[in-house]
Amino acid sequence: MLSEFDLIKRYFNRPRPGRATLGIGDDCALLAPAPGMQMAISTDMLVEGRHFFAGADARMLGHKCIAVNLSDLAAMGAKPVAFTLALALPAADPAWLEAFSGGLFALADAFDCELIGGDTTKGPLTICITVFGELAPGHALRRDAAKVGDDIWISGTLGDARLALACYWDDYALDPGPMAIAASRMHTPAPRVALGMALAAGPLAHAAIDISDGLVGDLGHILAASQVGATLAVDALPAGPVLGAQDLNLRRRFCAAGGDDYELCFTAPAANRAAIVAAALAAGTAVTRVGSIDAEPGLRLVDGGGTLVSMGLAGFDHFAS
Ligand code: ADP
Ligand code: MG
Repeated sequence: MLSEFDLIKRYFNRPRPGRATLGIGDDCALLAPAPGMQMAISTDMLVEGRHFFAGADARMLGHKCIAVNLSDLAAMGAKPVAFTLALALPAADPAWLEAFSGGLFALADAFDCELIGGDTTKGPLTICITVFGELAPGHALRRDAAKVGDDIWISGTLGDARLALACYWDDYALDPGPMAIAASRMHTPAPRVALGMALAAGPLAHAAIDISDGLVGDLGHILAASQVGATLAVDALPAGPVLGAQDLNLRRRFCAAGGDDYELCFTAPAANRAAIVAAALAAGTAVTRVGSIDAEPGLRLVDGGGTLVSMGLAGFDHFAS
């Protein structure tokens, strides 16, 4: 039987040269930001049965739980530095731990983000990660920084993760090929770190958020914090390759309010359009201009002809359902 300390040593303690002065093993890790930089810090918790299905593939889960945290750093424009991992496990299952830590470190290493500590306990499967990133002071892409006249942009594509969820719920059916593509969007999202860092470094963007609960809800947070409104061209929203082949209504609904997209929604001055397209190309992430920030409060969705489209959409709220 694997003890708590064997488990940490075997699966999570990988001494390697990193940014932390002191990593796993003492009462605290020691970490200093690079001279003159600010730390950006964010926590995300994933609970079995709430954020992922019981019995979910452990490697994908390892990927997803660090991906959603890196996505928060991306949305602030911060460079990933380190993370902590708090784990509640029903049992110390070596096969599960091997797969989970494999998925976790494959993505963390790709962003040079070092595991510096955590906590391990027995309990219903819960994974809580805190990420630490760094950022030049004054460059964070804050939710309260959108300005009237800004363009609204979206990275990548929307809605395929939500489409996969509809299939798991038996609300919809896809052929195996498209289902595999949609499911990979849901299980292994790609955090848009390089794009976020470029937008903050420019600075090219004013405000940003990562889309986890659906565009309408998440953009709504920018609008509320910035005390502005917005108009979105609903048919300009970049549907994922699988959702793009479905009917117009579903496309609109899952693009506007799908959730689990982990794309960036950001606002930027029109003067930066060419620089944003160039930065996106360099980051290897497509961007699409989908609307504008207005002085009139509220969010308006319009079709290609400029006619208001009423969809009764709301973002996902854990306590509303
Ligand atoms: P404490 O008794 O101070 O809470 P622990 O015995 O829980 O310390 O942890 C011992 C060391 O292992 C600490 O440095 C802690 O940060 C680290 N640690 C515990 N669990 C994990 C984990 N899941 N991943 C990474 N590091 C961990
Ligand atoms: Mg502890």
